[in-house]
Amino acid sequence: MERTIIADIFDPKLIGNEVCVKGWVRTRRGNKQVQFVALNDGSTIKNIQIVFDMAKFNEEQLKPITTGAAICVEGRLVESMGKGQTAEIQADKLEIYGTADPEQYPLQKKGHTLEFLREKAHLRMRTNTFGAVFRVRSVLAYAIHKFFNERGFYYLNTPLITESDCEGAGAMFQVTTLPLKEIPKDENGEVNYSEDFFGKQTALTVSGQLEGELGATALGAIYTFGPTFRAENSNTPRHLAEFWMIEPEVAFNDITDNMNLAEDFIKYCIKFALDNARDDIQFLNDMYDKELIERLEGVISQEFVRLPYTEGVKILEASGKKFEFPVYWGADLQSEHERYLVEEHFKRPVILTDYPKEIKAFYMKQNEDGKTVRAMDVLFPKIGEIIGGSEREENYDKLLKRIEELNIPMKDMWWYLDTRRFGTVPHSGFGLGFERLILFVTGMTNIRDVIPFPRTPNNAEF
Ligand code: ATP
Ligand code: MN
Repeated sequence: MERTIIADIFDPKLIGNEVCVKGWVRTRRGNKQVQFVALNDGSTIKNIQIVFDMAKFNEEQLKPITTGAAICVEGRLVESMGKGQTAEIQADKLEIYGTADPEQYPLQKKGHTLEFLREKAHLRMRTNTFGAVFRVRSVLAYAIHKFFNERGFYYLNTPLITESDCEGAGAMFQVTTLPLKEIPKDENGEVNYSEDFFGKQTALTVSGQLEGELGATALGAIYTFGPTFRAENSNTPRHLAEFWMIEPEVAFNDITDNMNLAEDFIKYCIKFALDNARDDIQFLNDMYDKELIERLEGVISQEFVRLPYTEGVKILEASGKKFEFPVYWGADLQSEHERYLVEEHFKRPVILTDYPKEIKAFYMKQNEDGKTVRAMDVLFPKIGEIIGGSEREENYDKLLKRIEELNIPMKDMWWYLDTRRFGTVPHSGFGLGFERLILFVTGMTNIRDVIPFPRTPNNAEF
């Protein structure tokens, strides 16, 4: 008999039909006359209740049905009398695929902490919470591709292994096939990279942006969506060593176009999740964060504040608030400052623009004042920075001057500079941290809980 996934089983048209479901047992309870099993197959947060009439089954047959066991049930789908569910299955046939010894199965009991489940990352997706989080993650990934495809963007895959850390966005993970026990050295005692796989020193990428600019100045509008690596040794609830980033880059867009794109994009994704992962978000709202849905709807319905960094710093200085890190013009804002502006001062998302050039990357377009660049960070409640972007410096001489001022090795940059030598155009783009978006949409508070297999210092087991 053909299997129906549980996400589809609550269709009222199916009532009265013979159905087959397969999944993992969440709970079993009951008495000598009747037993109830809550079954989940991962397709939805909802369980289907299976009713075993003990006139048709015996206790011995049902004994292996413990929490975590995998089973297949055939029976008739009927309207349910129980509260909180619309349909249930009266079992006729039972097949057991795999048992889960209650003495050993780590998820036997309910109500484990998120910290405990992090240690059981190989199984935690079977819980309601992580099932919900990772379904939301998948729905958001689809929303991202859909948004850009509807707007004529092309999906560009940029390399994960790169030769240069042009951006200085973060510490890099080196990629090498050199024997670590016997590293080849040259006459000066330096590592001899000509013997390495690529003949040069290479590392995992910290951003696809520079290659994305090559794509945008050819295809017009592109986006990347892939893994990004930063060897930051900071154990914060907002940083991973391996995370996913979405980086649109658009020829002929200025900073205002870029802000409009960022705002439309993030609102579209949040709305798409509310419309397409409602049950999961409702569950997370009820279990973890009673203001979640209200916050999500608030962000969609309000215009983001757009404010120059200089004005932002004035507000922070005038706030009278004692911050852990001091604020002054020129300081790189910390998440406590970002969250003050968003959560306490404006009470909605803020796009902060025109940062001091010293705290931003070399490629950002320089303003006339000689002090600031056309950067834009989108700041969100509970998160702080969720997007970082800018209009890019398209003037060859100005860009070159900045590269020299910052002592960025020129020989690594020739291909990037070619975009400014041949048919240079104004262009802009940004990077959205996928996990930070998922944090916001799910209401989770630790970034380790929104990626299936988190990579953080001392943690790469599974
Ligand atoms: P932060 O200041 O929060 O460390 P950043 O300024 O280094 O971030 P960018 O280089 O601007 O970040 O990267 C673009 C986006 O990627 C950020 O806005 C953020 O959403 C995300 N991001 C950056 N670093 C990480 C990380 N280590 N883990 C997860 N997401 C990250
Ligand atoms: Mn940034």
